[in-house]
Amino acid sequence: MHTAIVSNRGARRWDAGHPWIYRSDVIERPATDAGAVRVVDQRGKPLGIALWSPRSEISLRLIERDVDATLDATWWRHKLEHVIARRAGLDAEANAYRLVHGEGDGLPSLIVDRYDRWLVVQLMSAGLEHFRTEIVGALRDIARPQGILARNDASLRVKEGLATEVELLDGEVPDEIEVHEHGVRYLAAPWRGQKTGAFLDQRENRALVGRVARGRALDCFSYHGSFALHLARRADHVTALDASAHALTRAEENFRRNGLDNGTFVEANAFEYLKARERDRTRFDTIVLDPPAFAKTRPALAAGLRGYKEINLRAMRLLAPGGLLFTASCSYHLTKPLFLEMLEAAAADSGRRVVLRELRGQPVDHPEVLTIPETGYIKGALLEATDG
Ligand code: SAH
Repeated sequence: MHTAIVSNRGARRWDAGHPWIYRSDVIERPATDAGAVRVVDQRGKPLGIALWSPRSEISLRLIERDVDATLDATWWRHKLEHVIARRAGLDAEANAYRLVHGEGDGLPSLIVDRYDRWLVVQLMSAGLEHFRTEIVGALRDIARPQGILARNDASLRVKEGLATEVELLDGEVPDEIEVHEHGVRYLAAPWRGQKTGAFLDQRENRALVGRVARGRALDCFSYHGSFALHLARRADHVTALDASAHALTRAEENFRRNGLDNGTFVEANAFEYLKARERDRTRFDTIVLDPPAFAKTRPALAAGLRGYKEINLRAMRLLAPGGLLFTASCSYHLTKPLFLEMLEAAAADSGRRVVLRELRGQPVDHPEVLTIPETGYIKGALLEATDG
């Protein structure tokens, strides 16, 4: 195995529980293509084995502390078995969930989602891509799926010098897969849908909303209706809103699939819609705001915050007395304290008395490691308007 020498600052990052070492902290680059390399500090002390990405700013990703280990088929199998075992019991709630959450599970840059009998993977670094055969082999042995699809079309791969493509790695994977989740069903679209085919990271938050929903409900960034479906089981009526007509067609199909007929599907810009409902004094008993990331980069944070505050402020004003708002953000750059601060500012401007009933985050299959902030990105809050 080739060796990389890293600076003291790089070594300290590993000591502090973060697996990434940046290009500027690699003092001597290993003279080899992407794969696994041994990492030593400036005095030659072995630190571990890392995935090596020669073209990326994130050059090294710690994957194994034992420098004598070999990342062969057996190693991958053991490692994946251990991680996947943590998901035991999730089957009782859903047939789609994350099996491997990258850095959050000690397997940097590897995402594996299970959709019923199929797997969708994302190999997000050059170093990891080197082990594609071992990973696919191990997943086949452990999960015995009918097919494995790579959604390697994420733009992050460009930074690694990798191609962006959707590729069938094993067996066959259908266009649509029926997901069962806390009593509702919806169709995920593994080949073309968002992320790996659905937003599995909001599963538990959708279940929460399903438990408390009532009256007249609004789901503002509905996509294929996954929150709306949970709302519809308890609410009298649900308006599912999205800017994408195609997403709404799928939402409507999903309502039919569940035998629900209390939905209205509205193609609109959520900002405009909320403003118009404020003007005509419409009120809702339950509202969900699960927007796309408004702050995808740090420079976009200020503008993103204004967007979050605006939709939250307007949604608060639309709440009927005792009304509930579940609001979320998936922008990594909007930290938990900033998210709360934004909600406080929105509440102050809304003129309403808004109670924080519950703070929410990611489900157990999307582990957020305290020393690796990048593993956590979802914030959620259940709010209640307690004034008249
Ligand atoms: N809540 C969904 C995921 C939402 S993804 C779930 O749990 O599955 C974000 C959605 O917001 C996308 O479907 C996108 O089409 C929609 N969207 C983006 N900008 C919008 C806007 N300004 N108004 C309304 N919908 C928007």
